[in-house]
Amino acid sequence: MKLEQIKTPVSAVSGVGPQLSKSLTRLNIFTVGDLLSHFPKDYDDKSKKVYLKDFAKVKKVHTVAKVLRHEWFGFGKMRTLKIIINDGTATAELICFNRQFLEKMILPGSVVNVSGQFFVKYNSLQSSSFDVSKFKQNVDCNDLKQLIELMPEDSSVIPVYKLTEGVTQKQMIKIIKNALNQYGHGIEDEIPFELIEKYKLVSKQQAIFMVHNPETLEEALAARRTLSYEELLKFQYAILKRSYKRRGVIPSKILEFDENGNVVYEQKNQISNVDDVKNQKSENQNATKNVNKISKAEFVDSLSPLQKKLIEKIPFDLTQDQMSVIFQMDEEIDQGYLERNKIAIEENATVGDVGENGSDFDALNVGAFGSGASGTAGASAVKVHTMNRLLQGDVGSGKTLVALFVCLRAISWKGQCAFMAPTEILAKQHADKIAKMLDCLGVRTAFLTGNVKSSGRNQLLKALKDGEIDILIGTHALFSANVVYNDLQLAVIDEQHRFGVAQRQAILAKGRKAENNVILEPHMLMMSATPIPQSLALTMFSDLDISVMKTMPSNRKPVITYLVKEGNEKNAYDAVRKELEKGNQAYFVYPAIENEFESFDDESSAGEKSSFEYSDDEVISTRRLKSAERNFEHLAQTVFPEFKCALVHGRIDDEEQSKILNDFHSGKIQVLVATTVIEVGVDNPKATCMVIEQADHFGMSQLHQLRGRVGRGGEQSYCFMIYSKNITESGIERMKALRQSADGFYIAEQDLKNRGPGEMNGTLQAGALEFKIADVSRDKKMLLAARNDAIWLLTK
Ligand code: ADP
Ligand code: MG
Repeated sequence: MKLEQIKTPVSAVSGVGPQLSKSLTRLNIFTVGDLLSHFPKDYDDKSKKVYLKDFAKVKKVHTVAKVLRHEWFGFGKMRTLKIIINDGTATAELICFNRQFLEKMILPGSVVNVSGQFFVKYNSLQSSSFDVSKFKQNVDCNDLKQLIELMPEDSSVIPVYKLTEGVTQKQMIKIIKNALNQYGHGIEDEIPFELIEKYKLVSKQQAIFMVHNPETLEEALAARRTLSYEELLKFQYAILKRSYKRRGVIPSKILEFDENGNVVYEQKNQISNVDDVKNQKSENQNATKNVNKISKAEFVDSLSPLQKKLIEKIPFDLTQDQMSVIFQMDEEIDQGYLERNKIAIEENATVGDVGENGSDFDALNVGAFGSGASGTAGASAVKVHTMNRLLQGDVGSGKTLVALFVCLRAISWKGQCAFMAPTEILAKQHADKIAKMLDCLGVRTAFLTGNVKSSGRNQLLKALKDGEIDILIGTHALFSANVVYNDLQLAVIDEQHRFGVAQRQAILAKGRKAENNVILEPHMLMMSATPIPQSLALTMFSDLDISVMKTMPSNRKPVITYLVKEGNEKNAYDAVRKELEKGNQAYFVYPAIENEFESFDDESSAGEKSSFEYSDDEVISTRRLKSAERNFEHLAQTVFPEFKCALVHGRIDDEEQSKILNDFHSGKIQVLVATTVIEVGVDNPKATCMVIEQADHFGMSQLHQLRGRVGRGGEQSYCFMIYSKNITESGIERMKALRQSADGFYIAEQDLKNRGPGEMNGTLQAGALEFKIADVSRDKKMLLAARNDAIWLLTK
């Protein structure tokens, strides 16, 4: 059986009760197969000793120490034990929140195994997130230096899993072990045998056991290599198959990317006829390059009447790239329409096996290799062109407007459009703006999210079905089951990286319909402000055409970026105040919503929350992050009492969020304190300041996105990136690169280069680029190999 075919519900695993299985759904774990495919994101290697003195260089210390003494702090219920230890290299304190029982177990004078994350606080080295156990061997160590020679007794490699509320690391480890024992046998290989041989991979069966339960780190890595390769191969196979079906040609193998990021293709066999030349051309269209320039007169001339009305209405000139890209897409929409029409007319057209089993759309069903290209070649008999385009444009380059033009083109052909945004806030903002621009042209727009209430909703859905709505704007609710379109011809997906491949498929399915034996799909325009480096774009999106907009609207002044060290916030705040006094507005962004562990900062009240309810990882990460809620109070009451401040984050209800954003737009609010909910899309030209606290906590692309929220009007704008005192060297490099460059593509390349394995937080991780185990920055070479192997499989 294949792993993903193990459909037994996860509740069948021993140790998984109703509560836990409910929590697991948040990690998309429903079946045993899902659970076993929940691969560790990292390993805690306890096979090596790590001394206290090296705490800053490592994630975790793993050592043998002597207990010097016990100390206490706090009063009454809050009284907390501190165990002072020394491992021969340094002295440190174990802070035992809610673990007073350790007093009796870990006695002064004894020797212990210790592992945990340590940091310096109040001038001493501390950990509140540690494991400690008595050293079993009898050692009498009066000389602490003797400890240096001793190996900790618990030397194993422990998987570290991604968690969610209600699931701890220990639970996850235990239930996965149980699942392996109960169901983990007889798992089939999915990689063809030749390739297993070629790369000396381990069998799938073995890989599954080793990845969850490795004896050594080497074993874990070998398993990860096999599973990553399988994942990439399946992915490549699926998108290349799609690409083949769209273009009728299998792409060339890519040998390598040279140091400038240029592609070195394998030489194709001689080109024998005109069709081949055409095919090679269409294959290369996919490269991320700009389209031809077009003059304004030529552009205006090419517009449909509705589009002409819009261009007359907007108060500025389109950029060169906006015009080129619109022109290019108009052609595609027209072509699709004309072909469709032609088929409708030639009713007796001989139709091949187009879409005979919907095989164009089975890209996600990638399990089965082998039904190679030849089986589907008939698909080119009657082909209706559909646009499948990724529009990449740096933040602020004006993608929304481009999308509107393209919508108007589809509407000219009597089609409907769906305009999808990843967050409620952004969808609402789009809906309002689009309505403002298009209502007077007679275009009928409507807004739909999960929150639109039932009576209005039914009315809206009926209108949609009857073709009385031209553009429906909303969140992924646009594609939920009960939403039926009259004739969906174009789906626009804003901030595409936030959506996964599966969602893309669902959208296609919505608009797909059979007419005269021909299957029609809606055109799809995906937009992304996270520039994807060419090397990745070519391998990850070879089923899409890619357009790039590099020119910025001419009224823009580059944002000035200042790096501010933690402790010097006042300088930034003062600069912001000057801007506010001029009537401008500001954003403040924090990495967390609330600081659940703030009591830890205040020792007298420490210990109210049980750290047992959280995994070690969570304790560490939440306690270190600055929170929007807490800082909102500070900013509103102490720093900017004379201005109106407001707070938004993902836990505030959607309507409230929209209202706050409206008030920010209309100037009723001057300071908006937020989490990264405002990372995408939010557009307020009067905001001139962006303050990002703990900036080093964010990925580079994310910071670039956040910075892109300002500098959208004609005024000079500023971004203040406040970085932590204990920022790492590479953190400093990243900050400097951001200060120097405003080019999203350059930043994305740097981001990919600088990101260490397992460090995929930030935008690349989400959506289309999200893999279970493969990591596109770590596995770059493998990605290329998988692509070439998939080509081989398709042609074999
Ligand atoms: P993004 O590409 O980041 O999605 P938006 O579409 O939100 O950018 O556009 C940012 C702002 O720029 C909007 O206020 C929009 O009206 C404005 N804008 C778009 N195109 C132009 C242009 N050619 N000249 C001036 N302003 C423009
Ligand atoms: Mg946008």
